Amino acid sequence: MGMPPAGPRSAPVDSALLREVMRRFATGVAIVATLDRGTPYAASVNSLTSVSLEPPLILVCLKIGSHTCAAIQRAGRFSVSVLAEQHEEHSRRFAGSQPAVDDPAFEPVDGLPVIRDALAGMICEVESTQRKGDHVIVIGQVVRTHHEHDTPLLFFNSGYHRLAPAEPA
Ligand SMILES: Cc1cc2nc3c(=O)[nH]c(=O)nc-3n(C[C@H](O)[C@H](O)[C@H](O)COP(=O)(O)OP(=O)(O)OC[C@H]3O[C@@H](n4cnc5c(N)ncnc54)[C@H](O)[C@@H]3O)c2cc1C
Repeated sequence: MGMPPAGPRSAPVDSALLREVMRRFATGVAIVATLDRGTPYAASVNSLTSVSLEPPLILVCLKIGSHTCAAIQRAGRFSVSVLAEQHEEHSRRFAGSQPAVDDPAFEPVDGLPVIRDALAGMICEVESTQRKGDHVIVIGQVVRTHHEHDTPLLFFNSGYHRLAPAEPA
């Protein structure tokens, strides 16, 4: 069934409805992290998007007022670690309430915390930030990358999934 036509009885698009829609968009999961005045901060994200290839720019959307958002804005640099399928615990961990201090999941790269054995990683400098609604769009200039040949952790319908090849037609 397609989208019903708009009419006087169309439901207003509130946050619950938007969540229901976006829950159906399957994504990978990444950890964004920074070091601010010697303290590490990290958050699980699935808002990671490639913005531009030349220059190399990516974005993440971070909740206004969250520790990691504020720390990245202060530090002006952050790392992005794309999680592999065995990293579900990291995603749960950095979506939770424990501070990121002394977490063995990290190793230092260019002075920033980066997930060990991540599927891919980027070191970024904050190019710009823009407040939009209840989030901040953080655009990062990518200054260093690495990638492995592994399979990704997926997030869909509020749960974690693994990649499965499509059935042959
Ligand atoms: C798959 C997935 C994708 C997600 N994608 C996004 C996304 O794209 N954008 C987004 O904004 N969120 C996203 N989230 C949610 C995000 O991971 C959580 O909101 C996470 O808690 C943010 O980390 P934070 O420390 O910056 O948050 P905060 O809201 O600052 O902190 C969360 C909790 O931890 C405590 N805490 C954190 N750091 C400290 C500290 N240093 N000292 C003391 N207490 C601390 C806080 O008091 C609070 O109780 C996603 C979550 C999941 C599971």
